[in-house]
Amino acid sequence: MTATVKSTITFPYKRSLGPVLGAFMTALTEERLIGIRDGDRVICPPLEWDPRTGAELPREFVDVGPAGSVESWCWVEQPTEQHPLDHPFAFATIRLDGADTALVHAVDADSRDAMSIGMRVAPRWRPERKGHITDIEAFVPGEEAQGGGGEAAAESVTMMDYEASITYVTPVPENAVRSERAMTEGRFLGLRCPECGRTYTGGRGYCPVDSIALTSEHEVDLPERGVLTNYTIVTPVQYPGQTETEPFARVHVWLDGTDVVLGYQALIEVPVDDVRIGMRLAAVWASDAERREGGRDMGREPGLVGWIPTGEPDVQDPDLVNRIF
Ligand SMILES: [Zn+2]
Repeated sequence: MTATVKSTITFPYKRSLGPVLGAFMTALTEERLIGIRDGDRVICPPLEWDPRTGAELPREFVDVGPAGSVESWCWVEQPTEQHPLDHPFAFATIRLDGADTALVHAVDADSRDAMSIGMRVAPRWRPERKGHITDIEAFVPGEEAQGGGGEAAAESVTMMDYEASITYVTPVPENAVRSERAMTEGRFLGLRCPECGRTYTGGRGYCPVDSIALTSEHEVDLPERGVLTNYTIVTPVQYPGQTETEPFARVHVWLDGTDVVLGYQALIEVPVDDVRIGMRLAAVWASDAERREGGRDMGREPGLVGWIPTGEPDVQDPDLVNRIF
């Protein structure tokens, strides 16, 4: 079976709601649903503009619901972690009583067979509401709103936080698996092309010069020393989730006697003002204790911790700066 890595990246966003959606979200904290009058009809969720003409609508809000009728639906048999419920449910367009347009929300029905067009549903409120559409946990079959209680928002809701995220799975080639294992053993996996003699590391499965597949039979030992060829000083921006607070260096290390340049490596115990091209460096590997800790904390074993100066004289070569790969 092919090894895989599952990754999730999340982007936190904040948006202003404006006077109409803000009023709608504020009403949700009060367990109320409101629409906006547009001539002889009521639009829910409310809009600032008439969708037919683009004309600004007078701010005349109307209470609607809380019950309504399903106009269309689709069944979600296998919810993902981003779905509103962790068991099978329906997404439905629901026209709330007193409204002339439908909103989209989840319906927590027992089964697909319990769903039908025209069925009556009502909101199940969360006990704690913050002015977000998910203040309604889901709609449920019937006429009566459920849940709720707790406090309404003390002030009008004007902003909304949300996190856009994507989860993806990447297959990991056999060379990359062996490379990762080598790192946890305190060594670099090197692969030497039989045609041109260049060496590669990091699990690359081919020589890009000769288009030759590189496998375990091309494995060679790589030195754990090298020279700093280029660097970046990173000044951390304090975005949500940032754990770094002080400027730090990331360096390129050209391993001795090879064609391997390792990019974006951690440089440890060196003040950022002292980082120089030409510094001689040695790899620092995780201790057994750190590996055990890391395996528990990160779900995988750490290998390379970073690089420290060897104390040897700097290499004087003006072309070093160009060796970044
Ligand atoms: Zn080659």
